[in-house]
Amino acid sequence: MADDCLFCRIVAGELPSTKVHEDDLVLAIRDIAPGSPTHILLMPKRHIASALDLTEADAPLVGRIFAVAADLARSEGIADAGYRLVSNVGGWGGQSVDHLHIHLMGGRAFEWPPG
Ligand code: AMP
Repeated sequence: MADDCLFCRIVAGELPSTKVHEDDLVLAIRDIAPGSPTHILLMPKRHIASALDLTEADAPLVGRIFAVAADLARSEGIADAGYRLVSNVGGWGGQSVDHLHIHLMGGRAFEWPPG
């Protein structure tokens, strides 16, 4: 757990969240300020600052995150219409919480490229 990390505190149960999935590696919660009808954040329980810090050794974790995202897309009813998975990295990438997370967003159409 990293000091002063918002998502580490959520993982630890020190701050409230709306959990939609939890296993030994991954926590998924609803975004507090959803940008689409479905907006879920999937994160490793272990503190990793961003996708920039992933290595090949993290392959099981990354595989788990994407498999859970696919399961949640189905259970949220957004799989057939299509949805978006995004991980913002750093300042220009738009990252505001420095604990790796993947946004699972769906329930509406999205533009490409993003703003
Ligand atoms: P990013 O800007 O890509 O780092 O994404 C951070 C996301 O975390 C934003 O979509 C925020 O709305 C969301 N967020 C911030 N605080 C919380 C919280 N306490 N619970 C759930 N989501 C949060």
